[in-house]
Amino acid sequence: MSSEIAVVTGAGSGIGYATAQALAADGFRVLAIDIDAEGAQRAARSVRDRGGESIATACDVRDAESFAAALEESRQRWSAPPTLLANVAGIGVAASVTETDPDDWDRVLGVNLTALFHTCRAVLPSMVEAGSGVIVNVASVSGLVGVRNRAAYCASKAGVIGLTRSIAADYAHLGIRANAICPGTVASEWIDKILSNAPDPEAARRQMEDRQLDGRMGTPEEIANGIAFLAGARFANGSAFVMDGGMTAV
Ligand code: NAD
Repeated sequence: MSSEIAVVTGAGSGIGYATAQALAADGFRVLAIDIDAEGAQRAARSVRDRGGESIATACDVRDAESFAAALEESRQRWSAPPTLLANVAGIGVAASVTETDPDDWDRVLGVNLTALFHTCRAVLPSMVEAGSGVIVNVASVSGLVGVRNRAAYCASKAGVIGLTRSIAADYAHLGIRANAICPGTVASEWIDKILSNAPDPEAARRQMEDRQLDGRMGTPEEIANGIAFLAGARFANGSAFVMDGGMTAV
């Protein structure tokens, strides 16, 4: 158990929500961040209902100043900086290169990649000062293989893996680890929305399930457990840890 502080972005829904709960169960105090204020509050409340400690802050992760203010709020509350950053917030746009609106490209790269540069940049100095710290960035199998109609998303997630490895390379000697996690399809609110907009939701669901060797989607809790594992896996650094039910194994 730990009484250390974990920052979880995208804590309002899906994998981020489950990550807040999993890290709290491991004893972390959780700063739950989401652009959706109510979602962040729900995550923090659920942690507290289970006997943990959590505060929520509404923050767009693209806004470096707002993220710094959230960190300051948790420092005021707990008198210590975070030792774990889990970057989970992310968005997607379904389009090939020629179909991608340049504004959508900027939005996806902004949330999924540039924001991670800012959040990592914000937490690293105190980790360096402490001589320890862990960053877990949620990438995707889409950062490892090409996926049709996901140009900006694939590019952003490949970038997350590159950013993560560069942090490992630069800061390992200072006691800091950075790992990426690459989920396959996970039954989160995001996937629910995609399925409900599909012309034949059941057929689309079966297609998504069949992509995994296991014949099912992962759960947010399974990915959250992977993030919690990487948080404590002392010999894992710079990895792109795949949790995809075997999707990319064949
Ligand atoms: P989700 O939509 O259920 O949750 C994402 C959360 O991020 C939401 O609460 C949303 O409000 C928040 N968010 C979005 N933009 C934000 C911003 N600018 N600032 C702060 N918060 C913001 O999605 P999920 O499925 O839980 O996805 C979480 C992460 O996992 C994403 O990075 C996604 O790319 C990745 N991922 C998901 C799957 C999947 O199949 N669900 C697969 C691989 C990777």
